[in-house]
Amino acid sequence: MLGRASKALIRRVWRCDRCGLQTPKKKSQCQHCHGLDEAGLAALKQRYEEKHITNARIGRVFLILSVLMIALMIIAFW
Ligand SMILES: [Zn+2]
Repeated sequence: MLGRASKALIRRVWRCDRCGLQTPKKKSQCQHCHGLDEAGLAALKQRYEEKHITNARIGRVFLILSVLMIALMIIAFW
């Protein structure tokens, strides 16, 4: 199971200084923010942050679940 993040690591990418997102090295200009004005860039960053927060929430849920699993295992083997 390859997630989007590990696929991005396999590809050659560079990080844009303007928007902070990754773009393939083949492209000389950022595929995310090239051609966007300041308002468009702000909207892009906001969308990206919302996605990032959602991912962080999912990560926290998995962390809590794994802690619960470990706790259950400890109780079961006691
Ligand atoms: Zn950019």
